[in-house]
Amino acid sequence: MEKLKTKTESIEGDFEITRRNFLKIGGAVTAGIAVSNTVGAGETKTKESGTSPGIEGKIFHSVCPYCAVGCGMKIYVKDNKVVHIEGDEENPINRGSLCSKGNAAIQQIYNDFRVKEPSKKTGNGHWEKILWNDAYNEISEKLKAIRTKYGPDAVGFYGCSHATNEEDYLIQKIARIFGTNNIEHQARKCHASTVGALAPSFGRGAMTNHWVDIKNAKCVFIIGSNIVENHPVGFQWVTEAREKNEAKIIVADPRYTKTANMSDIYMQHRPGTDIALINGICKEIIENKWYDEIYLMNRTNTPFLLNNEGKLIEIKISALPENKKLKIRSGSDNDKAIKIKITGKDENGKDIPFEEISLDGKNFVLSKNKFSFVSKIENEKASGEVEILDEQDKEISKIPAGVKVYGDCYGAYAGVWTAEEMKANKDTVFSKLVEVISPYTPEEVEKITGVEKETIKQTAEIFAKNKPVTILYSMGTTQHTTGVQYIRSYVVLQLLLGNIGIPGGGINAMRGISNVQGATDMGLCHILPANF
Ligand code: SF4
Repeated sequence: MEKLKTKTESIEGDFEITRRNFLKIGGAVTAGIAVSNTVGAGETKTKESGTSPGIEGKIFHSVCPYCAVGCGMKIYVKDNKVVHIEGDEENPINRGSLCSKGNAAIQQIYNDFRVKEPSKKTGNGHWEKILWNDAYNEISEKLKAIRTKYGPDAVGFYGCSHATNEEDYLIQKIARIFGTNNIEHQARKCHASTVGALAPSFGRGAMTNHWVDIKNAKCVFIIGSNIVENHPVGFQWVTEAREKNEAKIIVADPRYTKTANMSDIYMQHRPGTDIALINGICKEIIENKWYDEIYLMNRTNTPFLLNNEGKLIEIKISALPENKKLKIRSGSDNDKAIKIKITGKDENGKDIPFEEISLDGKNFVLSKNKFSFVSKIENEKASGEVEILDEQDKEISKIPAGVKVYGDCYGAYAGVWTAEEMKANKDTVFSKLVEVISPYTPEEVEKITGVEKETIKQTAEIFAKNKPVTILYSMGTTQHTTGVQYIRSYVVLQLLLGNIGIPGGGINAMRGISNVQGATDMGLCHILPANF
């Protein structure tokens, strides 16, 4: 018999169990509990202190199947039965705590009301129990009949992010064998707007920081979330920030919740007015120059130029190693017909020869020589002008020589300007932002949101003077029809303050369910992950 050798962190010494036994015991646990992180079992132990002293069993480490805090659990198993569940004190996120939901997780396995057999609707609103084999036969016959008559896409398969990776893999496998890509789980209706907002903003549609990192915040802004009740153990990191850093807690929620009850400032805005509220705060920050100017210049696109349609003018250059030539293309469809004209002198006073590059919307290849020319315009010491012209040679923009390089992207960059200079140039992203939020005066925001103007001003000042600020949000934000734009407004606020990419800052999307990521990675959606 093949032996499986393993070791847990909580129990000293090596031990051996057979693979068959391991799977059997593991199976008993997975029967009811999401054990996506089960790391193995140790010897039988008797619990001597804490909750339920005297309980005896082998300990399995797992993760709570409920919310996305993902609290670590220790599951005691005796005679193939789960006899006790408690928080895993070695887990860095919950440090031994479980909320009432986690503490009741054993009921997922043994509650008398658990549905354990298939039932069939009788037609008069009642259900009758049927045998498993009959259920399998009837379901497969009906699915086959639908596929024959209407095709496989007439059926959709809906999985579950409470389930384990293994279960989710099987659900998508059935769907794909059946012949359809109509596969879903909760991720789509839960935080789809988070992905739509954070992925284009930061490259990744997930919380930017970590639960544990919340303790580093000096201000916690909670909007669209009742974290105290819905992610209870996660809230311990907010209270730790308050205890250790005297962090301010600011809550915006149309409903007075237990989370609101814990706040220093509570803003009861009207439902659907979140963007106005955030814009009002952003306006206060800009008016009072509370933004992080260096951060804006170096880490955001605020100094970049916009075209007539308000789209970023962006030129991308990427090497094509196979033919050793370089490809240059416009960054977006809107830049289809722009030209770039460069004149001036380099740092040695030598004339940069006149050159004009047309971007006709198609990729075209520049020779190596021309690339060396392009490299001159990235020289910030060069003087002269870079003009951006439209199809009719009309100037869209004029910028100083010195095109800033970000990775392989040569943006039409306004140069090293102060925020005031950016604001004065009507073509910069920053001036556009100022223009967009200019109507959101405290008085106007009070009218829209119902939040007193003094509270809006006070909130903006607290954000500015208690950095880093972290933003926590969940489904109160994501499930609005304009949820993507809500989150984009949080992005603007946090970037203005320089709160992204630092400990204690960030925008933290609190998921609803424990295994959203695993279910998605297992292919429980219309696309397969790259590493599938
Ligand atoms: S906070 Fe969430 S993960 Fe932790 S025990 Fe409660 S429901 Fe489970």
